[in-house]
Amino acid sequence: MAKVFTIDGGGDKFAYASVKNGKVILLKTFHSPTSIDGLKGQILKVAHGGLKKYDGMGIAIAGVVQNNETIIQSPNLHWLDTINLKEWSQNAFGIKCWVTNDLEAAGIGELKEGELQGVRCGIIDTISTGLGGCTIIRIPGAKEVVIPGEPGHMVNFGLQGPLCGCGKFGCNEARYSGGAIRRRVKQLFGDQIPSGMDPCRFLDQEADKGRPWALQLYKEVGEGIGLGWANTLNRNGWIEKIVYMGKFGVYGMKHMRPHIEEVIQIGAMFSHHKDISIVQSSLWPNGAHIGAAAIFEEHEV
Ligand SMILES: [Zn+2]
Repeated sequence: MAKVFTIDGGGDKFAYASVKNGKVILLKTFHSPTSIDGLKGQILKVAHGGLKKYDGMGIAIAGVVQNNETIIQSPNLHWLDTINLKEWSQNAFGIKCWVTNDLEAAGIGELKEGELQGVRCGIIDTISTGLGGCTIIRIPGAKEVVIPGEPGHMVNFGLQGPLCGCGKFGCNEARYSGGAIRRRVKQLFGDQIPSGMDPCRFLDQEADKGRPWALQLYKEVGEGIGLGWANTLNRNGWIEKIVYMGKFGVYGMKHMRPHIEEVIQIGAMFSHHKDISIVQSSLWPNGAHIGAAAIFEEHEV
């Protein structure tokens, strides 16, 4: 079994780990770098004496990835746009590297070690700074398939909708993601949020106290996420389970769940979807590391 140095890079933070045999040892987490040199610096800080003790590197990135090599676009990490990380890693560290979309990596982790084991078809979505997701399908006797998706960039609000980090208008992510809610709460309550506190945690605190504005905001987000899921379910009758992860979703689910379930009850067309199982990833926040290492092994071992 290979020992793989893995990176899970999102809009807020980059987590670095060592993975062997599906077991993750988390090494370090930093705020997301803002340049490719910043990424190199973080890797060198984590790996101390270099990457020689690893068989290679597996990178999971929040963005559209081509051929497990190149970032086509990352809405929250634009400095990565068009960069071939496989070549970059070879040049910068002399190490083999394969790249995956972070949600595909999380999906692979989930079907190997987590909540999608034994499930014929399921989706995994992150409700975080961005909204991402993928679908997994398992056909008996065949290799499982992970279908990439960009559910956060479903255009549900038309051309008049809010501007999204991807450059389009009207995406779900621009209204219902943790990033969108963070901006909104900051705008509304900037001076009331204790300094240094994430506006989303302020929202949680206020919702826990039963403040009407906070509960109303979670209702709005829950209905938006529920509608997105209802539409996804109506496109694919095979889906048996929804797995979610991401800080905003995990922390806010208790307030959002009744609204999500209500909208799915009303919006889902397949009767077996009306009470579909919606569960938190049991691997979060480490699932993407397992998937990134699995993709590396698929290509190199
Ligand atoms: Zn978008």
